[in-house]
Amino acid sequence: MRKAIELSRENVANGGGPFGAVIAKDGEIVVTGVNRVTASCDPTAHAEVTAIRAAASKLGTFNLSGYEIYTSCEPCPMCLGAIYWARLDKMYYGNNKTDAKNIGFDDSFIYDELELKPENRKLPSEVLLHDEAIKAFEEWMEKEDKIEY
Ligand SMILES: [Zn+2]
Repeated sequence: MRKAIELSRENVANGGGPFGAVIAKDGEIVVTGVNRVTASCDPTAHAEVTAIRAAASKLGTFNLSGYEIYTSCEPCPMCLGAIYWARLDKMYYGNNKTDAKNIGFDDSFIYDELELKPENRKLPSEVLLHDEAIKAFEEWMEKEDKIEY
């Protein structure tokens, strides 16, 4: 966790957001990540996602079970989802989402949106071409040599 915090502070000095993350196994750091949203013009380049991408690439797997993530701040819904998808064993965080909200990084509206039915969310959305879209799912179900994840 101290490394994640150190990364978050260094990133502020380097012009990035105040967030850092570390993925480790048995207490040994495997990879690190920092927030690169503005530097990379990538709205998904949060520290946790950056660390997960680095770990998956370094380890050659999309399944990070057996590893743990240390993040300087409680993750946003995107990163929390990424942590679940990566199958990380455990998460540790330093700052919480209220601390983040207090400095202008408010992701509580996304958590609030998730509680609503799609038609009640701020993001307009509608179903299109379901009959055509479902074909990929049917093909997936019939495929015998698929790599499940
Ligand atoms: Zn995030």
